[in-house]
Amino acid sequence: MGLFNFHKDTFKHGIHPPESKGETNGLAIKQFPFAPVIILPLAQHIGAPSQIVVREGQEVQRGELLAKAVGYVSVPLHAPVSGIIQKIANVPTISGKMSLGIYLKTFPSSTQEILEGKPIDPDTATAEEILQAIQDAGIVGLGGAAFPTHVKLKIPKGKKCETLLINGVECEPYLTTDHRVMLEQENDIFTGIKYLLKATGAKKAIIGIEANKQDAADHLAKYIPKELPVTIKVLPVKYPQGAEKMLVTSILNKEVPSKGLPIEVGAVVVNVATTAEIGRLLPHGRGIQERVITITGHGVKKKGNYLIPVGTPLRYVLDYVGVDEAISEVYMGGPMMGVAVSNLDISIVKGTSGILVFTGEDVGKSSQTYPCIKCGACLDACPIMLNPSKLGILAKFEAYDEMASDNNLMDCFECGSCTYVCPSHIPLVQYFRLAKRVVRKREAEKKEKVND
Ligand code: SF4
Ligand code: SF4
Repeated sequence: MGLFNFHKDTFKHGIHPPESKGETNGLAIKQFPFAPVIILPLAQHIGAPSQIVVREGQEVQRGELLAKAVGYVSVPLHAPVSGIIQKIANVPTISGKMSLGIYLKTFPSSTQEILEGKPIDPDTATAEEILQAIQDAGIVGLGGAAFPTHVKLKIPKGKKCETLLINGVECEPYLTTDHRVMLEQENDIFTGIKYLLKATGAKKAIIGIEANKQDAADHLAKYIPKELPVTIKVLPVKYPQGAEKMLVTSILNKEVPSKGLPIEVGAVVVNVATTAEIGRLLPHGRGIQERVITITGHGVKKKGNYLIPVGTPLRYVLDYVGVDEAISEVYMGGPMMGVAVSNLDISIVKGTSGILVFTGEDVGKSSQTYPCIKCGACLDACPIMLNPSKLGILAKFEAYDEMASDNNLMDCFECGSCTYVCPSHIPLVQYFRLAKRVVRKREAEKKEKVND
């Protein structure tokens, strides 16, 4: 044994924002009612939007295919309710743009039974069959990334997955979705792990959980099936430990290289709610119809964790839970990485992990921006050792190319830690988001020119 152990089961830097999870982490998951009309954008995952296979006026059953995947980096969309296709038209999305989608009118008197598909047996199915089944079920990262899960699980040639990491960290303040899933869906999680071990070829799985969810760690530990090589690792509480690279460092004490994926160090990371969904759907050959979402914030009356059909309009959700008249901001996702909503006519999508409703008092803190005082707090906060202060100055001069070429801008995964600690209230992460968009656009234009 070495004399010194410098690895403290966590990564370097990071921050400790107030957790604010106490109001919902004790509330069991409740089924949300079906809205009269479900609104489904097709582009609700990273990759090619799915392609509609139904027509206006058609009756569909809950679980039926509405749109098929277009290519490999794409997933299908299934009917979250039984009803009738009212309209195929543009729908509002969180980006502020309209995009093609489906309006599905719910049958109020239907049983809302879910259509069964082709079950997949984890013992006899091949890795390829499991990956196909995961794609067919429309599964994407439910932690918020919405990246098609089957693509992430495909191990590139020449690489090997030694360890499957199940991400139950849920480090975003306010969110308790994964916490409740771990307390209530242990069977789904372990069934999901069985599929995932086979799909990746990993010999073992480790579930990472932060110490503020010790009850979830104890609960899962009690139910680990004897035949499954699964262990649980309780980690110190720190934001943004739920980011893949940080989780790999915390659990395996390995650094994922810049621009690289966890597979570079022999790991694949899957969110725990995504794992549970795989375990819930694949034995029945079903597609995703609903997901668990935390609804909280001082502006909400009936806070809780709800199982909500995908496509439920946000306005309907807020009406049902009741909101303060003085609400001033609504977020989809957590307060650190979520997006402030500018239009309440958008709907819940597969990647929505939380809805936060804040009042004027919550957001009323100073929004005045001051010059950088070179305090270095942002450097101490950045978990991937970027220099947010320097990047911020370059952003002000619109030196986007220099930010990317000499200062690793594209490694920034927009955790917001630098913005959170900045005493001058400089909206660093907002600058970086914009800069990354510009750099990506310029790169795409360059490629187009080369191909002309
Ligand atoms: S937002 Fe980017 S630059 Fe800022 S702390 Fe996070 S990773 Fe670092
Ligand atoms: S935290 Fe803000 S004020 Fe301090 S160095 Fe970074 S950008 Fe400048």
